[in-house]
Amino acid sequence: MAESVELPGRLAILPFRNKVLLPGAFIRIRCTSQSSVKLVEQELWQREEKGLIGILPVQDAAETTSMDSMLSQGVGSESCERSSNAQVSTSDAHKVDGKNPSEVIHWHNRGVAARALHLSRGVEKPSGRVTYIVVLEGLCRFNIEELNTRGPYCTAKISPLEMTKSGYFLISIFYLLTCSEMEQVEQDPDFVTLSRQFKAIAMELISILEQKQKTGGRIKVLLETLPFHKLADIFVASFEISFEEQLCMLDSVDPKVRLSKATELVDRHLQSIRVAEKITQKVEGQLSKSQKEYLLRQQMRAIKEELGDNDDDEDDLASLERKMQNAGMPSNIWKHAQRELRRLKKMQPQQPGYNSSRVYLDLLADLPWQKASEEQEMDLKAAKDHLDCDHYGLVKIKQRIIEYLAVRKLKPDARGPVLCFVGPPGVGKTSLASSIAAALGRKFIRISLGGVKDEADIRGHRRTYIGSMPGRLIDGLKRVGVCNPVMLLDEIDKTGSDVRGDPASALLEVLDPEQNKSFNDHYLNVPFDLSKVIFVATANRMQPIPPPLLDRMEVIELPGYIAEEKLRIAMQHLIPRVLDQHGLSSAFLQIPEDMVKLVIQRYTREAGVRNLERNLAALARAAAVRVAEREQAVSVSKDVHKITSPLLDSRLAEGAEMEMEVIPIGVNNHEISNAFRIASPLVVDEAMLEKILGPPRFDDREAADRVATPGVSVGLVWTAFGGEVQFVEATSVVGNGELHLTGQLGDVIKESAQIALTWVRARVADLKLAAAEETDLLQGKDIHIHFPAGAVPKDGPSAGVTLVTALVSLFSQKNVRADTAMTGEMTLRGLVLPVGGVKDKVLAAHRYGIKRVILPERNLKDLVEVPAAVLSSLEHATKSWFCFPHIRFWWQSEWKTCWSMHLMGDVPGDNTNTQNYDKALELKGIDLSVFRDR
Ligand code: ADP
Repeated sequence: MAESVELPGRLAILPFRNKVLLPGAFIRIRCTSQSSVKLVEQELWQREEKGLIGILPVQDAAETTSMDSMLSQGVGSESCERSSNAQVSTSDAHKVDGKNPSEVIHWHNRGVAARALHLSRGVEKPSGRVTYIVVLEGLCRFNIEELNTRGPYCTAKISPLEMTKSGYFLISIFYLLTCSEMEQVEQDPDFVTLSRQFKAIAMELISILEQKQKTGGRIKVLLETLPFHKLADIFVASFEISFEEQLCMLDSVDPKVRLSKATELVDRHLQSIRVAEKITQKVEGQLSKSQKEYLLRQQMRAIKEELGDNDDDEDDLASLERKMQNAGMPSNIWKHAQRELRRLKKMQPQQPGYNSSRVYLDLLADLPWQKASEEQEMDLKAAKDHLDCDHYGLVKIKQRIIEYLAVRKLKPDARGPVLCFVGPPGVGKTSLASSIAAALGRKFIRISLGGVKDEADIRGHRRTYIGSMPGRLIDGLKRVGVCNPVMLLDEIDKTGSDVRGDPASALLEVLDPEQNKSFNDHYLNVPFDLSKVIFVATANRMQPIPPPLLDRMEVIELPGYIAEEKLRIAMQHLIPRVLDQHGLSSAFLQIPEDMVKLVIQRYTREAGVRNLERNLAALARAAAVRVAEREQAVSVSKDVHKITSPLLDSRLAEGAEMEMEVIPIGVNNHEISNAFRIASPLVVDEAMLEKILGPPRFDDREAADRVATPGVSVGLVWTAFGGEVQFVEATSVVGNGELHLTGQLGDVIKESAQIALTWVRARVADLKLAAAEETDLLQGKDIHIHFPAGAVPKDGPSAGVTLVTALVSLFSQKNVRADTAMTGEMTLRGLVLPVGGVKDKVLAAHRYGIKRVILPERNLKDLVEVPAAVLSSLEHATKSWFCFPHIRFWWQSEWKTCWSMHLMGDVPGDNTNTQNYDKALELKGIDLSVFRDR
């Protein structure tokens, strides 16, 4: 820094529009106007030794005027040494910074000599115009003696600046004062005071800047080393001050004036920093208030969460993220979820797709990726007790379930078969499955597949669809909240397939232990491990289940209950449960066994116990009304007594429904009703049954009544509700030999009717159904066959023998025995083929009170499955293969003989005794008892 500058007598002048370069300051100028480019080129660029140029502030005329007026009002005039000729006006100006040269420009008469520190040259494209960027350092002030604006750029004759007031001759701020002169200035007491003042303020400013920017260290060094008059310029140059103030600073040639001016400016700057700081502090105070608010809100949210009423969705996404973090997703799924969350965060809540994305992430967070119900050490004995406690009978089924549980106990991760309970409604399939869950200590979830025709119901819809959602399995898992529940696939036989895909094939993946480790739901779009889920399925029938699906399951059949079993189930399980559900107990309502039997016989005719339960519930409801009414009566009476007899030592007032003991003061209604219970349980009797359940819906006489005329036979059919008794009615009317069929029949059953009619017509003579001369049974007649009930669709081949029997009965005009039901498919040649559902059919016959069942011989093996109690209830059961004398087996080839024998009058009149039966068998080896002898 300690260099001396020798000012030449003449300098090239670069006009500086509305700005001032002070000594000690640096500027970077881009020169684009012709004159300035020329100046830089000639004075700086082309010279080897870079010379000095003069930077002269210039002003637009308008601004000069306003400034002049300011000055005339005395603004800052005292601190500026402004000579009256401070400005030179010129209209013949060079273009200043590209401005219109015709504008009036005022040239200041003092400038600063500057040295170029850096130069760079550029050529603008496509005009090819040359420009320069110059970095200049201001060195010292000069005075314009004479300004020459002619030529490519301005030049001026200059003189080093003289100090006017104090008589110092100041050549330059940079040591242009001679040492002795400098010393003189420094010794001036005014100058010393001013310097101290300036230093103090400057130090203060520096320390503030130091705190803020950590750059104060360097400036501090400057403060110690540089003379004050120079420092004054440097400090002021670094502030943003007005052009006038800058000019004023430039004009302050006297170090004292300059110092006092600089002190004022630095002080002002300091003040403005302080004010800014104060404002910042205030804002910070506000910020911390908002932070406080934030904290309080967080606490409030935590409290609300604890209370379970967190309806504050302000921080919805944050809580979603937290939930996702706690969901225990596998790492690849977590990454996928995070990607989706990032996408969601960028969206506006109103944006389409926001909601679907939100719901999707909610599902991901809710799914039990890891969460499992803890499996306790399984106690087989306890499990067995549990099953026994929940279900009556079903010995074999319970045994199979225990085996299943035992295997799981020994090998918890064993991929056991999927159990599938098949049977009519209400036989306990669902409740068995839930008992398995209870025995394993796992959660239970039931998924109904009835009527599912769309594969998407199992696998979900892709998220691209509007209203897409996950499949029922994933949805079920979300609801149950653990990954290892017992999942009941209810009514698996009721799934169907159509154009929307095949749900059964989707189920194949679910039930296959090899594949269900990574079950792919279309909506979820990431694999989910289903291998920990224990699947149990239920179905009413096996046939509709596709074989590949059936192959993956172990079928356990529940055939339905006989009356005796129903009675036990009702007494031990249904009645206690129903009473409990209605807030009653046996002290309120008693349903004697006889009455339950009546309910079973007269009001229900089903394989399961659901209707029975419903009827018992109806009884309980009626009882509940009675009890509630009585309670009311008692509480009213009690109030009366409070008034009339405070000691309550008397009996209840007359007119109360029941005499009762003294009620102590302070008892509540509940206790009153207790007192009642003991006094009078409601006992169901036959009259009450009829009153509540209505007249009996079924009786044993139904079959007898319906077969009272020739042409009616009793068949056995099999439906989804188990076995059923099906009457077949045939009649003939005058006509053209046509066969009419009614009763919502399917094609197969219609064909069976055709076959039966043809077979009978072909054997008119053998069966002696008509006089010899009359060969065609149908001559002049139409035959009408009807299957009641007309509203229920029917199909299947097993009505063959029933149809033949009805037709033979019609043509022979003999009644069929009402206590005999039959089933069997007929071929055209008279062979009887085996049919399915024998067990259910025999049970149905039993329910109807039918004593004899005629079956195809090849169905003999199926009788093993029929409960012994049912078999023994059929007539004349003995121990040999003929042990069921009245369950007859059609000998396929002997069909014809059966009828002929009968018609020849060989049929033993009363076939209820074994001897007669044996005799008949000996003769022809067939059952002839189908017709009641007349
Ligand atoms: P499904 O699923 O076969 O249609 P549910 O399991 O729903 O039938 O059973 C219907 C009702 O009958 C249930 O209340 C069930 O507890 C009861 N139930 C069925 N079988 C038995 C049984 N053997 N012992 C006790 N209750 C039974």
